[in-house]
Amino acid sequence: MCGGGEAIVLQQGALCGECFIQYFQKKVYRTIRQHRLFSKSDVLCVACSGGKDSLAALYLINELAKKQRQKIFALGVDEGVAGYREKQLDDMAEFCKKYDIDYSIVSFKDEFGHTIEDLMKIARKKKLDVSQCALCGILRRRLLNSHAKRQGATKIITGHNLDDEVQTFLMNLFKGGIELAARMGPATGAVAHGGFVPRVKPLYFCTEEETTVYTKLMKFSVLYERCPYRKDSYRDYVDNVIQQTEKDYKGTKTSIIQNLMKMQPLLKKEFSKGKIPDCGLCGEPSGRGVCAACGMLAKLGAKQPPGRPARSRTTQK
Ligand code: SF4
Repeated sequence: MCGGGEAIVLQQGALCGECFIQYFQKKVYRTIRQHRLFSKSDVLCVACSGGKDSLAALYLINELAKKQRQKIFALGVDEGVAGYREKQLDDMAEFCKKYDIDYSIVSFKDEFGHTIEDLMKIARKKKLDVSQCALCGILRRRLLNSHAKRQGATKIITGHNLDDEVQTFLMNLFKGGIELAARMGPATGAVAHGGFVPRVKPLYFCTEEETTVYTKLMKFSVLYERCPYRKDSYRDYVDNVIQQTEKDYKGTKTSIIQNLMKMQPLLKKEFSKGKIPDCGLCGEPSGRGVCAACGMLAKLGAKQPPGRPARSRTTQK
């Protein structure tokens, strides 16, 4: 610690506010460099919820892009969680105006004809066995990929942090299948496909707590509440187990990620075989004949996205 101000005590020791900001930023830029997350020629799309993680990623990547004269834009997805997401997307819009970043927002309502809440009402009526967060995630990933691609992005940046990744890894181990872990890591994807815009995660080694401290020190306008549906999700259940274990055995989360990184070369080698076909309905890449998004939309009787571009907004100068 440099001795300049009140100490922030985290797992890595005590740092003053200014030193913590430097520490956090260096960690993110080191992840980008060491894992070659993108190059100067990439067009960057930052997937933005308007929450703390995506705004931290957007700020840091935009600073780098300005220096490198690189094209960058933010893309928000409004799933239609009433009273929650619109506030976050307002924060995102204000943030983009303040830092002069182009942005656009796509919504489930426009693209699929229903919000996530309406889709779940239909699912319950039809007695479909699907959880809200699983459906929300499938449809959000689909919109991010198709709209990022349409706007010319060659990389999608997400704000996933270390806690998110530990949860995903354990969820895959407990339920999803170890082959899904082959797609994990700071750069996502086990199989290359022209239709996939590769997703990269510069906050991969930053904990949830670190991102919270960073955004507070940077005085970003952020809603720190979680989506109201999160508490009913399997992710939340797994997270509670992880947080309790971390409390009792410090360093557990970091150890899980370090071990995942060691296993990654083997996992990728084992599960990177084969070609991914295109979905027979939407043409997006899919592990099967019809992608998960189209399959769910068909079961729900919801409309397929018409393939029109997102409402783009260039920030006012
Ligand atoms: Fe969607 Fe679930 Fe996340 Fe809420 S917590 S935004 S419902 S995935």
